[in-house]
Amino acid sequence: METPIKIEGPNVKYSEKYIESQYPYHTSEVSLENGTYKVKPSTTHFTFRTERKVPKLGVMLVGWGGNNGTTVTAAVLANKLGMTWRTKTRVQSANYLGSLLQSSTVCLGTGPQGDVYVPFGRLLPMVHPNDIVFDGWDISSLDLAAAMERAQVLDWSLQEQLRPHMEKLKPRPSIYFPKFIAANQEERADNVIQGTQQEQLEQVRRDIRDFKQKSGVDKVVVLWTANTERFCDVIAGVHDTAHNLLKAIEIGAEVSPSTLFAVASILEGCAYINGSPQNTFVPGAVELAVQRGVFIAGDDFKSGQTKIKSVLVDFLVGAGLKPTSIVSYNHLGNNDGMNLSAPQQFRSKEISKSNVVDDMVKSNPVLYRPDEKPDHCVVIKYVPYVGDSKRAMDEYISEIMMGGTNTIAMHNTCEDSLLASPLILDLVILTELCQRISFCTESQPEFQGFHSVLSILSYLCKAPLVPEGTPVVNALFRQRACIENTMRACLGLPPQNHMLLEHKMQ
Ligand code: NAD
Repeated sequence: METPIKIEGPNVKYSEKYIESQYPYHTSEVSLENGTYKVKPSTTHFTFRTERKVPKLGVMLVGWGGNNGTTVTAAVLANKLGMTWRTKTRVQSANYLGSLLQSSTVCLGTGPQGDVYVPFGRLLPMVHPNDIVFDGWDISSLDLAAAMERAQVLDWSLQEQLRPHMEKLKPRPSIYFPKFIAANQEERADNVIQGTQQEQLEQVRRDIRDFKQKSGVDKVVVLWTANTERFCDVIAGVHDTAHNLLKAIEIGAEVSPSTLFAVASILEGCAYINGSPQNTFVPGAVELAVQRGVFIAGDDFKSGQTKIKSVLVDFLVGAGLKPTSIVSYNHLGNNDGMNLSAPQQFRSKEISKSNVVDDMVKSNPVLYRPDEKPDHCVVIKYVPYVGDSKRAMDEYISEIMMGGTNTIAMHNTCEDSLLASPLILDLVILTELCQRISFCTESQPEFQGFHSVLSILSYLCKAPLVPEGTPVVNALFRQRACIENTMRACLGLPPQNHMLLEHKMQ
């Protein structure tokens, strides 16, 4: 039995419908006057409202029959049904390791026995992954049991238990434009929607409505975990505004399948998340989301190598050491790797992986001149034998004191889809939670939701999408602190400050 959490204090009120909190948000404004930095602290008083009723959540995956799609669906089923299975070393039970919300904790405060930690996902009322209903599309018609076998991720004896459940799940036909993904994917494309772009868009919209109605879910979130597409050339008059984009779809100008899915979701009022690196969110798609007040988020799951990079470089730069060369090699043998072996699709991944240290470098003008960046190189190779077990090798060279250098080399091996699946769950659950949070201030007294570009999900994304003109944060623990402190604000709790002043007094 989980211990319920109740905040007692003047800053929070629980009504039947809401948790309502008062939150003083402290910031500092800096100006340079006569050669001096003038820092003015200021406080904005926020009221946060979180709806307490957790809806039944439906998730539609584009690329449902892929390694991630099948693995996340299988993992949820195995957890829900309490499955255990024998591996060659032990009896293993289903779990959600790697999920920020299910398997990491936050500190509530101090009790008689010391600090009290609870799972992150318990701070506010949130959907539990076991209750998510999945559906989705794939250009490959294999049912989910056969697709899970093709993925070669899960232990065989677990697959045997899952098969009767998974074989009932069949991906809906999808939008396939061969020029957007690698030519080597053509063989699996036996499940495609025919017709004009407009007709395909309408079909996807009908699919979303059909799923919602048949499954009885209250809300649907759509997430792209299909193959990485090549970048789409952003053309003025075609992709630049919401109006032009809708027109472009109507007349059949070049729009990527992922953008069509994003537009269909937005038009259906469903949040859309991009787990791959391509530029799905052309300016017209972002404008459409803003106009309709629908959340969009992305890009590209931050699961392994980039996650470590966004910790290690933060640590080095934060320690006053100067990373000057970062070289990352990957090899993998799954279908994602095969798709990425084509130059245009690799290029999408390379771009998404390349900006991840920018904010950390920019944060330290002691180490870097304004125009200076470390050398940063990313290599990805397809090696079928290693399957889903991706290898990532990194070398970080940093300048240390008095002309010395420090080289850190790292080797990381693990099943890629077992890292990505918990991120998919965190992404959709946090998105759904954000849909129930609204806030106002003294100067803006009307309650509003977060900006449509849901940058709070940056922790889970390699190349975080943020509202235009706002800072991109890649540093992992800053991203985590953003989620934790936003949730604490919703409970009227101050941000976690780690000062432990109570233990520093005489
Ligand atoms: P995968 O190749 O196993 O699965 C992709 C699935 O998408 C395939 O079943 C394919 O048939 C399907 N597909 C392709 N085009 C489609 C379309 N237009 N509509 C519907 N389905 C389509 O790949 P994966 O390992 O599951 O990875 C999925 C995506 O996630 C890739 O783009 C990958 O780069 C990205 N990603 C994965 C990780 C990770 O750790 N696994 C991390 C970051 C990003």
